[in-house]
Amino acid sequence: MNVIVVGAGLAGLTAAHRLAGRGLHVTVLEARNRVGGRTHGIEIAPGAWVDAGAAYLGDRHTALTALMADVDLKATPTGMVGDSRFALGDGVQTRPGRFPPLSAVALGGLFDLLTELTRQVDVAAPWLTPRAAELDRTTAAQWAARHLTHPDARLFFDLFLGEMMAADPTATSVLHLSLYLASGGGLRYLNAFEGGAQQDRIDGGAHQLCERLAAGLEVRLNEPVRAVHPDSVRTARGTYPADAIVVAVPPLLADRIEFQPTLPVRRAGPQTACGCAVKVHLVYPEPLWRRAGLSGWSLSADGPLLSTVDDSPPGGPGVLTGFVTGAEADRFTALSAEQQRAAATAQAARLFPQLPAPMAVHVTDWVHEEYSRGCYAALFGPGDWIRLGPHLTTPHGRVHWAGTETSTEFFGLMEGAIRSGHRAADEVLRRSP
Ligand SMILES: Cc1cc2nc3c(=O)[nH]c(=O)nc-3n(C[C@H](O)[C@H](O)[C@H](O)COP(=O)(O)OP(=O)(O)OC[C@H]3O[C@@H](n4cnc5c(N)ncnc54)[C@H](O)[C@@H]3O)c2cc1C
Repeated sequence: MNVIVVGAGLAGLTAAHRLAGRGLHVTVLEARNRVGGRTHGIEIAPGAWVDAGAAYLGDRHTALTALMADVDLKATPTGMVGDSRFALGDGVQTRPGRFPPLSAVALGGLFDLLTELTRQVDVAAPWLTPRAAELDRTTAAQWAARHLTHPDARLFFDLFLGEMMAADPTATSVLHLSLYLASGGGLRYLNAFEGGAQQDRIDGGAHQLCERLAAGLEVRLNEPVRAVHPDSVRTARGTYPADAIVVAVPPLLADRIEFQPTLPVRRAGPQTACGCAVKVHLVYPEPLWRRAGLSGWSLSADGPLLSTVDDSPPGGPGVLTGFVTGAEADRFTALSAEQQRAAATAQAARLFPQLPAPMAVHVTDWVHEEYSRGCYAALFGPGDWIRLGPHLTTPHGRVHWAGTETSTEFFGLMEGAIRSGHRAADEVLRRSP
């Protein structure tokens, strides 16, 4: 049986690996000149890598940790020892832990409301959630305007959505927010470092997962798929016969592919938006903030770096990763490369005045990545879950769907991508003679 997999991200490669392991002939067609998709490494010093894309994982990410063991990769804890820095009003404050200097009552109320939304959502089938239609047509911004009266809750909600989902609250529905939180293990798990979804990173970079999976597979790079027909797949270079096809690309990109016969429901809707995130890596000779008792973590109301985290490779240089998300990412990406570096360096100096100028600043703009269009993941907007949700995993003839956006378990995360790859591969295997 001849299987074509479209997309060499985690989902496509996981599916391809399982299918090839069962003796099927698998070819992976990848648009970029590299594998990995939304995982991508940058070598900041000889042998020292940082994650320009996905980085963090926790102990509930069981498919990911099993895959890491299979391809012989180890986890390293994310550095989070010491005090945090907060720039949420006048000046910058240093405080222990990560709870911001905002009204504890207002933030407690916000967490209660979000926990209630999370509890209500039907994770397996979000469109069947009680009051799904209402939650699906309401944006997170409209919900916040209605429910969050205290300015501290409004401020934190926007920062939280940016940090967690790279989302502008006007672009995502409340049903999507609820599903995202519930499918990722809940608010507290998603937000936490120790014991939560940010507990560890992959030693040497998450991109190695895909590189190691791809090593044993037939992967053709620079092959953007243009059309999928019942028994073949067409790229600019040629046509590949197929008995089964796994399409493992984000929904906004799947909609650029021509399908014959036409899909009954498109993969994205008019309101489906790109998550917006830019990662900035500021490189220092060593993690100098630790000498001042700081963790490197910070939260700011004003950009460009809305949060920073210590992503220093073990034994390597010091690396502060800055996250520029939501509407701030649009403003930042409109700047020249020089202006971006200057703005990021100036903010790092305000947050951590004891630091010298960084030795290097690396900016990774995911907003304008032609073959991602959505990061950390696509944002389902008003109407999307009701209309698209029931069709996300339904095969279209010989076409099966994978990708983190098809997984209601750990939606948007590496874990969701891997689980979707396993599901799609199992669907194909059930059809194979
Ligand atoms: C900045 C950033 C930070 C993140 N942080 C985290 C994190 O800390 N933890 C976490 O778990 N997740 C995180 N994520 C999300 C995680 O990266 C994704 O959930 C996961 O990698 C998605 O994998 P995928 O295979 O579904 O999609 P992708 O990785 O997008 O793979 C799709 C592949 O298809 C290719 N493609 C697209 N169109 C075509 C076409 N027409 N023909 C052929 N190929 C095509 C693309 O080039 C790509 O290689 C982050 C993502 C980003 C960008």
